[in-house]
Order: sequence, then structure tokens, then C-alpha cells
Amino acid sequence: MQLKENEFRVGTFHGRHDGAQAKVTAIRDDTRPEPYFWMCTCGASRSFLTEDAVFPTAWRHTHPTHLDRLRQWATRRLRAR
Ligand SMILES: [Zn+2]
Repeated sequence: MQLKENEFRVGTFHGRHDGAQAKVTAIRDDTRPEPYFWMCTCGASRSFLTEDAVFPTAWRHTHPTHLDRLRQWATRRLRAR
């Protein structure tokens, strides 16, 4: 992905979920109210006030546990209604 000039890549996570390769890019952008965020190749994204939660959640997103997969499946079913 292309970063804007005020964005800095702070980490990249490779993994897979939903049976497909996934890559999460963690970025810092001081112009945003929540300067830390990550984006996944699947379209998911999260933003945070501090750096603390960025890496654990990004890792978790690309390496979902069995319980996470169940939860994602349940969320998708709820959204589909
Ligand atoms: Zn993803």
C-alpha cells in the first residue's frame, strides 16, 4: 500500500485468516485523533490512541485462534440479517 507523507509504517504482520493470506500494516499518523492504526489486506482496520494495543490486535487478526474464528463467523452471520 502507498503511504501518505504524514504516515509512518511501524510494523507489518503476515498471517492468514478465513483461509486466505492476510497482511496487516501498522501505521502512525500524528495528524489523526487516534494516531496509531492498522489496516489489513482484507479491508479490516482498527485505530488506537497509543501504540500498546496496535501490535497485539494486529497479530491476533492475522493469527486468529479457534475462538476468534468462531466469533468472526458469528459476527458475519449477525451482520447478514
Ligand atoms: Zn484481515
